[in-house]
Amino acid sequence: MGNKLKAVVVGAVLGVAGAAFAQGTPAAPKADAKAPGKAAAGKAPATAGKTEVTWWGHAAFVVKTPGGATFAIDPWLTNPKAPQGATWPEAVDAILVTHGHFDHVGETKALAQKTGAKVYGSFELVNLLGLPEAQAVGANAGGTFTVKDATIHLVEAVHSSSYQADPKAASQYAGAPLGFVIEIANGPTLYHAGDTGAFQSMALIAEQFKPGVALLPIGGHFTMDPAQAAVAAKLLKVKTVVPMHYGTFPALAGTPDALTTELKKTRAATKVLALEPGKATAL
Ligand SMILES: [Zn+2]
Repeated sequence: MGNKLKAVVVGAVLGVAGAAFAQGTPAAPKADAKAPGKAAAGKAPATAGKTEVTWWGHAAFVVKTPGGATFAIDPWLTNPKAPQGATWPEAVDAILVTHGHFDHVGETKALAQKTGAKVYGSFELVNLLGLPEAQAVGANAGGTFTVKDATIHLVEAVHSSSYQADPKAASQYAGAPLGFVIEIANGPTLYHAGDTGAFQSMALIAEQFKPGVALLPIGGHFTMDPAQAAVAAKLLKVKTVVPMHYGTFPALAGTPDALTTELKKTRAATKVLALEPGKATAL
């Protein structure tokens, strides 16, 4: 992300809920707690026997498995598309961070402090976050970890990765960017691609892990656009694509409708599942 754009986004975010985040306070987003219809993905019980996925806007997701594991992925919980009036996840077993850019690390540290969750990411990035040793799981592509009824595989992404401890600090090298494959017992195998362009080794991810659902960036500019995401879906052989990393700010112009059009051109049977921020969806 360019510094100018970043400044705009950070400024917008810090103007609202991010003020607390900037001070390192794990406060809930400053939304009206009394607002009706408040999304409460952190409290809602998982649908029995189902895996539940909640998009938090941008690349942030909460995944709950039938066996009771809760994952927060790229938890920028105060992003401009975050669900209005949403509460933070209360119990989290693992936080998966694809790379060091602020729009993916988000409130990782505060969420880790609040929940005691372990943080999985590149060795370099996890070291930079200053977490208690017991919560820091620095690893790299090829790594496999088990959390309750889920198996997490770290896979490659074609992108960059650096980390700024705060918006005024210098960027630090944060290792390789990653994606995550989450194999869920009695549930789907999900692939969160992180920020990436399409790459040929997505075929290897398909061969090794056979994901059924891919969470793919479609915004363009920093990642794949809808046309490239359709190519990625074909390489991955997935039945469903959940689009992400679009619409957060104007540069991320790709849309789910454009992805649907591009997928039709490939004649693939892949479906687009466009999630509404804050609304838990059973898979
Ligand atoms: Zn990025």
